[in-house]
Amino acid sequence: MIYLDNAGTTKMDDKVKAAMLPFFDEEYGNASSLHSLGQRAKEQLEKARAMVAAAINAQPYEIYFTSGGSESDNMAIMSMARMGKFNNKKHIITTKIEHHAVLHTMQKLEDDGFEVTYLDVKPNGIISLADLKKAIRPDTILVAIMYANNEIGTIQPIEQIGKICKQKHITFFTDAVQAVGHLPVDVKAQNIDMLSLSAHKFHGPKGVGALYVKRGTPLFSLIEGGAQESNRRAGTENLAGIVGLATALQIAVKEMDKTNAKLIKMRDKLINELTKIPHSILNGDRNIRLANNVNICFEGIEGESLLLLLDDAGICASSGSACTSGSLDPSHVLLAIGRPHEVAHGSLRLTLSKYNTMEEINKVIKIVPKIVDYLRKMSPVWDELEKGERKHVI
Ligand SMILES: *Cc1c(COP(=O)(O)O)cnc(C)c1O
Repeated sequence: MIYLDNAGTTKMDDKVKAAMLPFFDEEYGNASSLHSLGQRAKEQLEKARAMVAAAINAQPYEIYFTSGGSESDNMAIMSMARMGKFNNKKHIITTKIEHHAVLHTMQKLEDDGFEVTYLDVKPNGIISLADLKKAIRPDTILVAIMYANNEIGTIQPIEQIGKICKQKHITFFTDAVQAVGHLPVDVKAQNIDMLSLSAHKFHGPKGVGALYVKRGTPLFSLIEGGAQESNRRAGTENLAGIVGLATALQIAVKEMDKTNAKLIKMRDKLINELTKIPHSILNGDRNIRLANNVNICFEGIEGESLLLLLDDAGICASSGSACTSGSLDPSHVLLAIGRPHEVAHGSLRLTLSKYNTMEEINKVIKIVPKIVDYLRKMSPVWDELEKGERKHVI
């Protein structure tokens, strides 16, 4: 099997699994217990917190462990919204290309009387800083802009966004789930006030993540109960998961340069070869994108059919976000960069990891054009395009 769906989730690193195993076994203590088993758990919890903090240049007390990226996104946004309610500030700025964990939370807040500005992105999938500046109002409580996009891999100008928010005294939250472990992150240098990350996107376990919150930024809890995580996130800590997260992040940061150099070679080969297919187009900026992301639209085909045939050939790919696959709506991200509906339907996302090889990439380069050709031959839409009854848009 060739696994090319690493923006969906990643294979756990064996070293991460080994670091987690003791916590399913003899080290089963609850970090809130006063006995020695509990205290050992507490020590490991705090060690993991310090490791995560070090990876993003934060302080350990600025790290809150959660159940993953979605919870961290919800917690950051809902917390700032609650603060906004107290101060009578009800405007939030975000983008049209955020993950659903952000977009659906924003919709909930709109139902609750908040006003949300959804910034457009340029055709290359990157926001305009001028648009951001124009959107800021006296009652803006939060700017929520993702670091790197999960579908098209584009990277936003985080440091400049951080600077603008700092000048205007507005809290800046970034969903960095696709960036942490893949790109250098420095919350201080980049003026980030809140940041979410998730272990399973960098070869850690599923169901565990973290939220970084800069000291002095208000933080309200989403889950009530015990006093864990400085009273901000109740529930007995998922210690095995947290140790797995910290270990995976440490490895990812250490290997980052080497991994990215390898990924860029494979990514560029895929992009160069697959965009040779007639009437295909790369989605997202050619260079300002994650080292592991390839996203291409092929005119005249359905992405879902392409996926099924690739699966038959032993290749795991995606047509967009994991959440949208299975639904008939085209990707909101592809629509935001200006792809027409019918083109957005024909998308293929290939996302790589350190476990992929050039040999695998060479196989994919051979198979994809054949499948696209096969599907086009069967497609009534392609037939119309070929006969000139319908105009090519790409
Ligand atoms: C995967 C992902 C999430 C959700 O993270 P989970 O840990 O799966 O809840 C949020 N944002 C982005 C950009 C993602 O890629």
